[in-house]
This record gives sequence, C-alpha cells and structure tokens, in this order.
Amino acid sequence: MPHHFTIDVEEHFQVSAFEPHLARERWDGLESRVVANVGVLLDLLARHGARATFFILGWVAERRPDLVKAIGRAGHEVASHGWDHKRVTQQTPEEFRLSVRKTKAALEALTGMPVLGFRAPSFSIVAGREWALDILVEEGYRYDSSLFPVRRPGYGYAAGRREPHWLERPAGRLAEVPPATLRVAGVNLPAAGGAYFRLFPYALVRAALRDCERRRVPGTFYIHPWETDVGQPRMDVPWLTRVRHYGGLGRTARRLERLLGEFRFTSIAPDFGFSGAGAAAGAP
Ligand SMILES: [Zn+2]
Repeated sequence: MPHHFTIDVEEHFQVSAFEPHLARERWDGLESRVVANVGVLLDLLARHGARATFFILGWVAERRPDLVKAIGRAGHEVASHGWDHKRVTQQTPEEFRLSVRKTKAALEALTGMPVLGFRAPSFSIVAGREWALDILVEEGYRYDSSLFPVRRPGYGYAAGRREPHWLERPAGRLAEVPPATLRVAGVNLPAAGGAYFRLFPYALVRAALRDCERRRVPGTFYIHPWETDVGQPRMDVPWLTRVRHYGGLGRTARRLERLLGEFRFTSIAPDFGFSGAGAAAGAP
C-alpha cells in the first residue's frame, strides 16, 4: 500500500515561526530559493519513481509560474496551501474564502487541472475554526489535510481521527487526510515529517508508517522545500526558532533518500480517485 508524500511549497522565510520577526512586506526583497529547492525534491522523487502532492502558496505561484507547471508536468498533484501563509486562526472567514479561492484559481490556470486538496499553513484548522472546512467544500475543494490529531501548543486537532476519513459538514462532504501520528501510551505523537523528521531519530517516522501499514491505511508524510537547503540565509530570530528551523537540515536529503527507498509513495488525489468526474463515492 503506498503512503502519501506531501510537500508544502513555500520560501525558506515564509514559515509561521518567523512571522513575528519578518513582515510580509519584506518578502519580495529576500532571496528566493524555492525553485532550486523544489528541484532537489523533484529529482529525488523521479529517481525513486514516486508521486507526491505539492501544496503550493498562491504567492509562490504568482511569482514562479513555471515551477507550478513543472510540478504538474512531472505527474505530481498540484494542491493549495492558501495565498500568503496566513494561518486560519488569523483570518476571518471572508479572508480565508478569498485566499483559498484565489489560490485555487491561480494554480488551475497554470496547470489546466482541477485543484482538489488544501493544507492550512501550520495545520491551523484548530478546534473552533471548523468553518474553514465548510468554506473549502463551498469553494470546490474535495479534501483537506490540515487536521493534525495531536495536542501541541498553537496547533493540533486533538479530537481528529488518525486515518483518512470523510467529514460530514453542513456544507457537504469533505475527505480529511491527516498527517501521520504514532500512538504511544495513549498519546498521539506527531510523526509525519517536517521538524520531527529532521530533529528526531529517523525511526520515529518509520515506526509511524509501519504502524499505518499494520492498520491498512496510508500514512501522510510532509516536508518543506527549504528543509534540505543547508545554504539558506540565516534569519535573525530567537534561539529556539533557529534550532527548529535550521537544525538537521544537513541530514534531511539523506533521510528522504532512505525513506523513499523503504516505502512506496504516491500523491493524495489519484490515490483516492478524486480526480475523475463524480469520484466522491468510494474511499476513504
Ligand atoms: Zn507552510
């Protein structure tokens, strides 16, 4: 059974942890590295014959249209990460709607393919923000991958289920494809990628995916393009933020190589048959 390989496509400076220290107005003046960074991941996936889902910021798509086209041409799924990495918790429903609408339209115009999936910046659909799920349905999205069933400061959807499932919302049906977790002593540990993949032993993510296989469900792994980029400029941010963002960058490419060698991966939408007309029936 293939797992899901997912990539949140953003620049190295567009992470939520930098937000208090770096105004969005400064973004255009910073060094862009996303094209080269995504190139590393595209090569890696091609060498292993793996497909992935790329959740792309509208902000990036507007400035790097050829990158979006290249991702689509390589056979990967193009999906939405919202416009400018604003967390759902910082948006009104109206702002969120405009962000997901504009991003979907921009990505579809570039690839000619429907955008079906969404992942919120920093998994920010938290308890009390479920209205975002209804807006996704109303805006034509078919699945979400934002409900991280963990209890963490600032994010996590502790009440969420650990495997792909259908959400029955007032606005309609939406598939939820949560990032992988590892259940230890009754607690869900985040084990889906990102900083957990770079900073903790490789065995954590491997154990989570093996556990998914035992439960006969696909696990969802995620990584950011900047996480293999050892040469990225270092931002002037507090110590703990530096550790979380820059720690382990040098071993990520090697670990990804190992992961792709050990497990089979594919993108989310074709896996669930969402791409065809009327494909809402069936899995998950
Ligand atoms: Zn992000």
